[in-house]
Amino acid sequence: MTIRTPIVYSDIVEIVEPENNGEGGIKVATLRSKIALEPGQLILKTPLTYPAPLYPTRDFTTVQIEDKGHMKFENEFEYMNHSCAPTAALTIDVDPESGAANVNIKVLKPIAPGQDITFFYPSTELEMDEPFDCWCGAPTCIKHVSGARAIPLADLEANHEVWGITDYTLKQCRGE
Ligand SMILES: [Zn+2]
Repeated sequence: MTIRTPIVYSDIVEIVEPENNGEGGIKVATLRSKIALEPGQLILKTPLTYPAPLYPTRDFTTVQIEDKGHMKFENEFEYMNHSCAPTAALTIDVDPESGAANVNIKVLKPIAPGQDITFFYPSTELEMDEPFDCWCGAPTCIKHVSGARAIPLADLEANHEVWGITDYTLKQCRGE
């Protein structure tokens, strides 16, 4: 395992278990911030070293790391739910010389104490192992979440900042 110890700001997040069964009896825990967060703040930094033993295949808990494979956070951030108006985004910084990379979670818009930390799953996922319907109610809701390739390119272009679409995902969808 060459994924080095992530810098987890555990003191600022908490996993909240649902009190009641939700729609269809499914319990979904959420990740919430305990404090106010500002756009641009990094709330997780996960150093990777390539070739990292990333997972070659995706499943419903993995995050796509560009063309390198798929990783699992294996910490609180595994509980980040999807939103079509997310409060956070994944960013991947790769040092082209060393190949070292950081997978970061960056705040996209002001988060109040007690507010959910969410990200837009197709921002990193070109295709998804377990597509699902979304009822988030945001004006930018895509209704069916199955990966970036399934989203019309015009919508991706128009909303890439709101959704926190990574440069890699955007380029792949543009066919670049
Ligand atoms: Zn939605």
